[in-house]
Amino acid sequence: MSGQSSDSEEEDMSNYGLSMVSIAGPSKHDCGYCKGKNTSISFGIWAHSMTCADYQDLIDRGWRRSGKYLYKPDLEKSCCPQYTIRLDATKFNMTKNQKKVLHKFNRYVKGNCKAELPAKKPANYVQVKSLQDSIHEPEEQEVNEHKLEQIVLEPSSFTKEKFALYAKYQVSIHHDLEEDVSESGFTRFLVDSPLKTNNESDFGSFHQKYIVDGKLIALAVIDILPKCISSVYFMYDPDYSFLGLGKYSAFREICLVQEYNKKFSDLKYYYMGFYIHTCPKMNYKGKYSPSDLLDPVSYKWYPIENFKSKLDETSFVTFDPIERDYPPGWLDPKSLKEKELENVFVLIGDGRIAPIIHIVKFRTSKSFKKNILDYVIVGPPGSGKTTYCWGAYQYLTAIGRKVAIVNLDPANDNIPYPCAINIADLITLEDTMNELSLGPNGGIMFCVEYLLKNMDWLTDKLKELEDHYVLFDFPGQVELFTHHSAVKDILHGLEKIDYRLVAVNMVDAHYCTDPAKYISVLLLALKTMIQLELPHVNVLSKVDLIESYGKLRFNLQYYTDVMDLSYLLESLNEDAFGSKFKKLNEALCDLIQDFSLVGFYTLCVEDKDSMTRLQQVIDKTGGFVFGGLTEGNESIMLTAMKAGYHEDVSDVQERWMEDDYDY
Ligand SMILES: [Zn+2]
Repeated sequence: MSGQSSDSEEEDMSNYGLSMVSIAGPSKHDCGYCKGKNTSISFGIWAHSMTCADYQDLIDRGWRRSGKYLYKPDLEKSCCPQYTIRLDATKFNMTKNQKKVLHKFNRYVKGNCKAELPAKKPANYVQVKSLQDSIHEPEEQEVNEHKLEQIVLEPSSFTKEKFALYAKYQVSIHHDLEEDVSESGFTRFLVDSPLKTNNESDFGSFHQKYIVDGKLIALAVIDILPKCISSVYFMYDPDYSFLGLGKYSAFREICLVQEYNKKFSDLKYYYMGFYIHTCPKMNYKGKYSPSDLLDPVSYKWYPIENFKSKLDETSFVTFDPIERDYPPGWLDPKSLKEKELENVFVLIGDGRIAPIIHIVKFRTSKSFKKNILDYVIVGPPGSGKTTYCWGAYQYLTAIGRKVAIVNLDPANDNIPYPCAINIADLITLEDTMNELSLGPNGGIMFCVEYLLKNMDWLTDKLKELEDHYVLFDFPGQVELFTHHSAVKDILHGLEKIDYRLVAVNMVDAHYCTDPAKYISVLLLALKTMIQLELPHVNVLSKVDLIESYGKLRFNLQYYTDVMDLSYLLESLNEDAFGSKFKKLNEALCDLIQDFSLVGFYTLCVEDKDSMTRLQQVIDKTGGFVFGGLTEGNESIMLTAMKAGYHEDVSDVQERWMEDDYDY
């Protein structure tokens, strides 16, 4: 994404780092406006971090955010299409009624009892006060009845006081149940942001606190971006509802845009969120003038008046129609060039990364229609990968997928699972070792190289499995995945014949019990991921046995999420061996954290839920979710929601919805 901001801003932006996102995929929700069931359709991503310039580009393409969840409604398919609306704050004209709201607030602060001073001005003098003058009027007066503290802008953060205000507002105004309002929900929705913000930042996610007589009476959540200020949410103390704070805050924010505009000439718009023509409570956002709506196809802005007349007749309006068979405003998938996408990576679940090319190219390839995803199981000997293959075979068969296992590990004897293709039919480890006088490791290397030379043998056999979901069981020797290129070349050979592969890397959970081993496992996982260049899922296997291996220093989540390794480093440096390599260990931990790519899922093959979870992760990793709103995908979203990872978009309440202030 290229920001159109000036060079100096671009430089500022780079300090915020890269944008990292993972795909949440399409989702359907009940509509919060017309109460339709599953009629609100959007596409979501999780933003782990995002530059302000990138977010500006996204909201100018119809996206909005709720915490770190970013979503783009499908205006064509949804019942109540949500059009992005913006106001040019530098040209804002207040209507008479809007002025009343502003004066009401000022009168309250200055004191109701004080009558307006008679104007000592000539009778023919028409007083034209700017918005900024009106907003700051109470501050100029020496004595006010109520003390309005300069409205404070600060980087978004959690405080008990803010949460108390939020809880009171949600329960009283939105009729939320008290037990449904939680600190974690508030944080996820209104404190978390992918935009990096600190006290030195001009741009980012901020809270604007309204403090009257020392008490927090309202809070605005806003994003300040290179070209606009975007309103995320507004809440107020219901005891002060007589002040019309919902409306008043909009003037405050418009005024803020005008003030920022003096410093940043590109920043001149105020984004009020979405305009919904069919919802009377929302459509007075269009009463702020001059406002534009975003054309959902061309992303050009048109005056709201042009839209309004058309919106009375049809809910989906574009001034730039084009023939297409994909959602409005998306790139034509056929126009995408692989070269352009080679350097684009997406995170696919915390810490797991995949080249977007793996996801996008299958949209256009023939095999995409098969909706079949195949995967490669790797992992050191004894990591439980053979047991997993057998478990996965049974699980996938049970959920109705046609499965086949291909064993490519020449050291696998006594294979427990039904084997559709077995490398032993091509070459056996025993023969190799005998004839070439090689040890087991050298023998396996030779077998894998031999397989690479005879890829035709494999591809011929695979033709019979065309409509199957294929699991490839690879040998576990780590050097095959970290140094040697034969496995990588075999995988590329499979991709050439349209296999969509996901690498599943099994690691025995007992490594968690020893800090040094754990760190070496992380490094191996990292190296394997980089070497194989495949969408990747790391799995801690046999977690059910973990307690029997010894005591963990931290809870399991510490290990699966690869949290702050400095803690582990401490215990590592305690033992005699570790201390010798203190510097090296520190450097290794830094490396792992710099990449922050490694994380683990857990697996216990006997546990059906554990298998289900892992399979969903694998499907998601391979872009299976891009198959559209199929049954399988919905269940992925459902699981994600159950796990509390998904913000219900219809819950993203808009300001003013409750406020029937008469205009
Ligand atoms: Zn609706």
